[in-house]
Amino acid sequence: MKRTRIVDLFDGSRLDTEVCAKGWVRTRRGNKHVQFVALNDGSTIKNMQIVFDMAQFTDEQLKPITTGAAIEVTGLLVASAGKGQTVEIQARTLNVLGTADPEAYPLQKKGHTLEFLREKAHLRMRTNTFGAVFRVRSILAYAIHKFFNERGFFYLHTPLITESDCEGAGAMFQVTTLDLNNLPKTEEGAVDYNEDFFGKPTALTVSGQLEGELGATSLGAIYTFGPTFRAENSNTPRHLAEFWMIEPEVAFNDITDNMDLAEDFIKYCISYALENARDDIQFLNDMYDNELLTRLEGILKEPFVRLPYTEGVEILEKSGKKFEFPVYWGADLQSEHERYLVEEHFKRPVILTDYPKEIKAFYMKQNEDGKTVRAMDVLFPKIGEIIGGSEREESYDKLLQRIEELNIPMKDMWWYLDTRRFGTVPHSGFGLGFERLVLFVTGMTNIRDVIPFPRTPKNAEF
Ligand code: ATP
Ligand code: MN
Repeated sequence: MKRTRIVDLFDGSRLDTEVCAKGWVRTRRGNKHVQFVALNDGSTIKNMQIVFDMAQFTDEQLKPITTGAAIEVTGLLVASAGKGQTVEIQARTLNVLGTADPEAYPLQKKGHTLEFLREKAHLRMRTNTFGAVFRVRSILAYAIHKFFNERGFFYLHTPLITESDCEGAGAMFQVTTLDLNNLPKTEEGAVDYNEDFFGKPTALTVSGQLEGELGATSLGAIYTFGPTFRAENSNTPRHLAEFWMIEPEVAFNDITDNMDLAEDFIKYCISYALENARDDIQFLNDMYDNELLTRLEGILKEPFVRLPYTEGVEILEKSGKKFEFPVYWGADLQSEHERYLVEEHFKRPVILTDYPKEIKAFYMKQNEDGKTVRAMDVLFPKIGEIIGGSEREESYDKLLQRIEELNIPMKDMWWYLDTRRFGTVPHSGFGLGFERLVLFVTGMTNIRDVIPFPRTPKNAEF
């Protein structure tokens, strides 16, 4: 008999018919007359209750049904009298697909901490919490593609292996096929990269933006959605060494268009998740964070605050609040500052613009004042910076001047500068850290809990 996913069994259409369900056992309880098994197949947070009438089954048959075992059951799907259940299956046949020795199965007991489960990352997706988180993650990824597709953006695949750290966004992971124990050397004693796979030093990308700009100035509007890698040794709850980034880039957009896009985009994703992952978000709300749903719905209601950095700094200076890191004009804002503006001062998301040029990347469009650039960071409650973006400098001369001031190796940049040599146009874009969005939507507080297999300093086992 063909298996039906548990989520589909709950839709009511198969009531009073014979069905087949397969999944993993969450719990078993009961007495010598009747046994109840909670079965989950990952398709929904909801378990299917399987009722075993012990007049028809032996204890021996049910013995392998322990937490974590995989079973296949057929039987009648009926309306349930039990509290909290809408339907249940009255078991007719049972087939044990895979046992899970209760002595050895790490998730035998309920109520493990998130920290404990991080050590069991190979199994944690079987818990309610991580099932919910990773379903929400998947639904958000779909929402992102849907949003851009509906607006005529093209999905551009930018390279993961690159020759230069153009953006200076973070420390890079080197990629090499050289034998580290036996490095070829030049006559001067340096590593001879001529012998390396690409004939040059290469590394994993920290951002797809520069290639994204090539796409935008050809296809009009593109977005990237792929992994990025930063060897930053920042052991924070908001940084990963491998994370996914979404980077739209649009020709002819100025910073205001860019802010509008960012705001529409985030709101669209949150609203899509609320509609399509309601059960999971409700579960996370009830288990971890009672304000989650209110917070998500609140975001959709009001426009984001748009504020120049200079005014933001004034608010922080006047706040009278004691921050760990000092705040002054020119300082790179820390998460504590960002969160003060968002959570305490404005009580809604803030888009901070026009940052001092010294703390922002070389490619951002310079303002008339000579001091600031057309940057825009979107700051969120609980998260701090969720998006970083800007209008790009389209003037070849100004861009070149900045590159020289910052001593960025010109030879690495010629292809990028060509966008400004041939048909240059105003354009803008931004980067959204996907895991920071998932953090926000799930209410989780550590970024390690919203990516299936987190890569952080000293951790890449599974
Ligand atoms: P932060 O100041 O938080 O380190 P950043 O200024 O380095 O961020 P950008 O280089 O602008 O960030 O990257 C764009 C977006 O990517 C950020 O807004 C953030 O959402 C996300 N991001 C950056 N670094 C990380 C990381 N190590 N792990 C996860 N997400 C990240
Ligand atoms: Mn960073």
